[in-house]
Amino acid sequence: MNPLEEQFNKVSLKLSNDRIGRFIPADSQLDSRLLDFLDERLVGMRRTIQEGFIGDVLPGAKEVYIDYVDSKEPNAWAHGGDFNCIGINYGFVLSIFDYYNTLMCCKDVFLEIGKPENEVYTFEELKDTLKNISNQFQFSYEPQSVERVEMATLMARVAVYFVLGHELTHVLKHGLFFQKKYQQEVIYEYYDPKIFSSKDYIDLKALELDADRNGSLLSFWLLDFYFKDASTQLEERFEGPSYLWLTSIVTLLYLLENATNFYYPNKVSSHPVARIRQIFCIQFIRIAAPQLDVFYGLDMNQTLVNHLDELEKLIARISIHSDASRNSKMEWEYALLIKHLEFMQKNYLDPT
Ligand SMILES: [Zn+2]
Repeated sequence: MNPLEEQFNKVSLKLSNDRIGRFIPADSQLDSRLLDFLDERLVGMRRTIQEGFIGDVLPGAKEVYIDYVDSKEPNAWAHGGDFNCIGINYGFVLSIFDYYNTLMCCKDVFLEIGKPENEVYTFEELKDTLKNISNQFQFSYEPQSVERVEMATLMARVAVYFVLGHELTHVLKHGLFFQKKYQQEVIYEYYDPKIFSSKDYIDLKALELDADRNGSLLSFWLLDFYFKDASTQLEERFEGPSYLWLTSIVTLLYLLENATNFYYPNKVSSHPVARIRQIFCIQFIRIAAPQLDVFYGLDMNQTLVNHLDELEKLIARISIHSDASRNSKMEWEYALLIKHLEFMQKNYLDPT
């Protein structure tokens, strides 16, 4: 291990109860195809952070080190202070790419891409497959046409940008607040119920939304970049980036909620429920997108009007609990969190 890898390994071992260190490919049981894939993705993520536009959007991001943690679980952590780094479980990256491949194997979604009629799953079957996707990483669900494989890869990359934007925000903006108020140098996504009191969760949830803000922004900007690159031919197939962004991010948030329930039934999630995160990200991008391109505001509004049924089908059938009491509770919580986030941003967080 080089010195940075050593330092990362130390941090990783120190902060996990079960002493999980840095992922070492040579010691892993994964086959060479998956190892090569993971290596390419890590190189890509590092390049994205160090050379891409992320460093311009989030000051300080270029100096943040990122590496894999030796865990299959779909999780990540952010470490601030003396060594700014992000630990992302190798299994998280694999499951993100696996997920969008599976999604594109459904003949009922993205009807305009490739030959959906050749795909194997109906919508109902997709739902069942996704429920059981955790822990597999077989990469056995490959879409039938090149266009659909490319689309799966593109949506997975958009999702990875979301995760990077989210974790970088924890490192760069929340680290100091955590150290001062909670004497914690690491921000996890899930906690042992003993660590925080229920009163603290309003802070934690507001910070999660703050992190989602940058996740949304970076993932949308990536799509903007792809759209303006003629070789992707996206402009010929879609009116704008909104439809792809919504499908990628809204379903990612559903997937994460599902994975949390599966992997961490005894931990407390610091995140608001997926529906609140989804609504928050959509509302935020509706405001932010037109600043990137005036046309994008219209594109987002039209996408929401024209594809709402389809999107709701994709999310609602899988994730929204539609009983009235929960919805009104959710509306109340959403409003409360927005207010608290504004308060936190004004009083405790860096203004980036
Ligand atoms: Zn988070």
